[in-house]
Amino acid sequence: MNLPRPSKVVCVGRNYLEHARELGNEVPERPLLFFKPPSSVIAAGEPIVLPPESQRVEHEGEIAVIIGRRARHVSAEEAWSHVAAIAPLNDVTARDLQKTDGQWARAKGFDTFCPIGAAVPLESVDRDALEVICRVNGEERQRGRASQMAFPIPVLISYISAIMTLEPGDVIATGTPAGVGPLAPGDVVEVEIPGVGTISNPVQAAG
Ligand code: MG
Repeated sequence: MNLPRPSKVVCVGRNYLEHARELGNEVPERPLLFFKPPSSVIAAGEPIVLPPESQRVEHEGEIAVIIGRRARHVSAEEAWSHVAAIAPLNDVTARDLQKTDGQWARAKGFDTFCPIGAAVPLESVDRDALEVICRVNGEERQRGRASQMAFPIPVLISYISAIMTLEPGDVIATGTPAGVGPLAPGDVVEVEIPGVGTISNPVQAAG
C-alpha cells in the first residue's frame, strides 16, 4: 500500500505495564508522547546503523497505525475511520542516551532508527486481534497484544488529535511490550504483526 511520507511519527511511551516496569517505570496517567523524525525512517532490509554516541541500542517492536484521513479533535469512537493501514515498526532506541538526556530526541532520532514495514489496509486486518512479536536472530524477545495496551489505539488517536492535526501518512507508534534488549553488529532484528507482515533489518556498526 503506497502512502505519503509521514509529516511526523508520533510515539507512545510506556503503554504496556510489563514494559514500563522492566525499565523501572509505571504506566503514566495519560499517554506519554514523543516524536521520531521522518529522517529516521527506513524500509525492510535497510541496515540499522549503531551510532558511536551510544553503547546500548535496543529494539522495540511496535504496532504502527498509519493515518489515512486528516484527524483533528476526533473522538475515540470515530478514530478508526481515520486510519488507513497497520504496519510493523521498530522504535530503535539508544537506551543509555535516553536515560542521560531526559528529552528523547537524540535517543530515538538517529538516522535508521525507525524501520517501518509494508502497510496493510485496515480493512484487511483483524483490528481486535492485533499482536506484535520481535525476534533477534530468529529468537523471540518480545510479544504483546494490543488488548494489553494501557491506552488502546482509538484512545491514542483521540488524545493525539486533540493536540496536533494528524495528516494522511502520519504514523503512530503505539508502544512496545516487555522484553526490550540490546542489538549488536551482525544481528538481524524482525518485527512481526501476525496477519499483517514482518519487517526485517540487519544491524551494523557505523563506519
Ligand atoms: Mg517505543
